[in-house]
Amino acid sequence: MKPVIVACLLSLTPCLGSALADPVKPPVATVPLPPPEPPQRPNDLVPPEPQVTPLPPERPPELVTGKEAVKPPEGKTGSDTPRGQGPDTANPTALPEAPLPPVRPPELSGEAALALKVAAPDDAACLRRLERLGARFESVAPLGNGQCSAPRPLNVTALADGVALEPAAILTCRAAEALARWTTEVQASARKEFDDRLASLSLGGTYVCRGQNHDSDAKLSEHSFANAIDVMGYGFAKRPAIKVTAAAEGSPEATFLATVRASACEFFRTVLGPGSDSAHGNHLHLDERERNAGHRLCQ
Ligand SMILES: [Zn+2]
Repeated sequence: MKPVIVACLLSLTPCLGSALADPVKPPVATVPLPPPEPPQRPNDLVPPEPQVTPLPPERPPELVTGKEAVKPPEGKTGSDTPRGQGPDTANPTALPEAPLPPVRPPELSGEAALALKVAAPDDAACLRRLERLGARFESVAPLGNGQCSAPRPLNVTALADGVALEPAAILTCRAAEALARWTTEVQASARKEFDDRLASLSLGGTYVCRGQNHDSDAKLSEHSFANAIDVMGYGFAKRPAIKVTAAAEGSPEATFLATVRASACEFFRTVLGPGSDSAHGNHLHLDERERNAGHRLCQ
């Protein structure tokens, strides 16, 4: 017998448990403690509202085309009533066809459009106006000679009603347009004074690289920029031509010359002629010189 049991028996103490427990003592628990609880969520922390993706705006009815336009609404069977008749007229889905874009004007299509683009954006509108005014012209190579220059000159051969330029004129579009507009007034005066048709304008120089009044020390003339015209005389279909210089006072010719010279001031910034100075005794000088505050020189 084991001595412990003997001692127990001898002491009469309930030591059996401890005596037996000692050698079979259970191992120390190794199960980990549960993790600490997370801190309480503060009361003022509100979860974010769920995000709602907005729907695209409704397509406006005028953009509904094709199949969509004729598709009957859901829950309604398709009607055989032709569009525009019967109750479907009130149906908002039975819309007229979308209008076609306007037809491109012929002067803006094809080669013409390309030519306008190539010419210069600044002159495009002027060239179209000049064409509508009935002028006959073509773009020519840029001119340049020292300070004189004409980057986009035109060779103008005739104006409305077949009024010929003799000789053809090298001009900026702006000067050519002013000449074309003024010539319609000259034409009206020819019919009124002579009951005849203006057939031609006799011209002096247009593009000439020189100073004003042929003075090499003077400011450059507008002729140096293809921006000026010298009119020497007027030709008609039936009656004899009239020179700018020759007209007996009080005659229809004098009235004609005075009228057309006065009307030139409505189209050109500079109008000089016989009586203005010695340099303009035999022709009408017309130009488009820019001046401060739009000032004009009409003498
Ligand atoms: Zn001149």
